[in-house]
Amino acid sequence: MNNNVHPPSIDKLLNLEECKTILDEFGHDLVVDALRLVIEALRQQDNIPPALTIISKAHQMLMQWSAPTLVPLVNATGVILHTNLGRAPLSEATLKEINHTSLSYSNLEFDLDTGKRGKRALHAEKLLTLITGAESAYVVNNNAAAVLLVLTALAKHKRVIVSRTQMVEIGGGFRVPDVMRQSGAKLVEIGTTNRLHLYDYENALQEPATMVLCAHHSNFKIMGFTSEPSLSEICEISHSKDVLVFHDLGSGALLDTAKYGLAHEPTVQESLLAGADVISFSGDKLLGGPQAGIIIGKKDLLDRIKKHPLARALRPDKLCLAGLSATLSSYLRGKAEQEIPIWNMLSQSLDEINARANRWKTIVMQGEIIDGRSMVGGGSLPEESLPTRLLALPIKKPTLFLKLLREQPIPIIARIEDEKVLFDPRTVFKSQDEYLSGRLKSLVENWDR
Ligand SMILES: *Cc1c(COP(=O)(O)O)cnc(C)c1O
Repeated sequence: MNNNVHPPSIDKLLNLEECKTILDEFGHDLVVDALRLVIEALRQQDNIPPALTIISKAHQMLMQWSAPTLVPLVNATGVILHTNLGRAPLSEATLKEINHTSLSYSNLEFDLDTGKRGKRALHAEKLLTLITGAESAYVVNNNAAAVLLVLTALAKHKRVIVSRTQMVEIGGGFRVPDVMRQSGAKLVEIGTTNRLHLYDYENALQEPATMVLCAHHSNFKIMGFTSEPSLSEICEISHSKDVLVFHDLGSGALLDTAKYGLAHEPTVQESLLAGADVISFSGDKLLGGPQAGIIIGKKDLLDRIKKHPLARALRPDKLCLAGLSATLSSYLRGKAEQEIPIWNMLSQSLDEINARANRWKTIVMQGEIIDGRSMVGGGSLPEESLPTRLLALPIKKPTLFLKLLREQPIPIIARIEDEKVLFDPRTVFKSQDEYLSGRLKSLVENWDR
């Protein structure tokens, strides 16, 4: 029986033996804060629980406060570059390099030859020029920053010609026209929403301009009565007027996606060959590395970009540079498909996926294996998908089940179609197979069907 009307004092609770563990773990001040909050909440109730319960509630609160909010999870959605789920997972080699260089001091801005100050920009630059054949390269925080920097450094107060077919919003607030305005560039719009002709460029180039911006459509596709000149045609006509071409490539594929039964995503190398003077792309889309914005192109233009004051504000950290170098090294050695997770997922055979889905089903003892499609995501290849095999669980109240999946120790993200909960092995790491199928088995068993 417990008929306390007043909660115990904080001092009394602190002196209890049971409080010792949390005091050791979280320190006096934080424990007092937690106890105070728990007691505050209890004042509304008639019955005050025993001291032990109060301490245990405070403990829960303290654990919640101190737990990281960014946690790993299982992506069973089949969307390979899921922007909400952190885009590209990193390769083992990338992680190793990040660990290795960040657990101690490094030569981030130190020249080991001369013993003098070195350049941070140098670190991924060499690999980028080797892989792409570009004269020069520079890395910033993300591609949105790259676009802003290129436009600000090369085209502030100058006319920049851009097509209405490319006035895209990427998501997360990145809109091509807004970023252009922010950079101080003067936007010259040409073409219509669905059609752009070479003569649109010719007409606009009658007046002096500094740059033509070509932005990749990224996450949308225009269909029907459409046309756009090729990048090489645009480069030719722009160069004849001494106007430079900046290609915001978006995804930055270094390998050909057509090899995997997808549409062809323009590659960085093709953009260079077509004659683009400056090209920018993301590090964590089809490149499969850490978040970064990569700028490559002509040396004189890159030198101006690197010297711009904004470059300092947008500079990447050492973890990014270490990781990006390791990811790029996989491409240089021709090992990207084996080593980089997203290419691994793209190149997984249907047989292998089918076998994994069937193994899950055997363990879960529920559901069926059905045909489905995996998406690339990440603002690349809209409408494009890869054939896959899915574990489909017919389940009552599927939305509630999805919530339960998200509440697991390692949250599981799945999707619903036709009242069934679907799980795509393509985006689940093989090392997560056992966890996923084991969890599903026990959750399904206990689900009121
Ligand atoms: C994704 C994308 C961006 C933004 O890149 P982040 O790395 O997300 O900042 C800019 N332009 C295009 C065309 C894109 O696809």
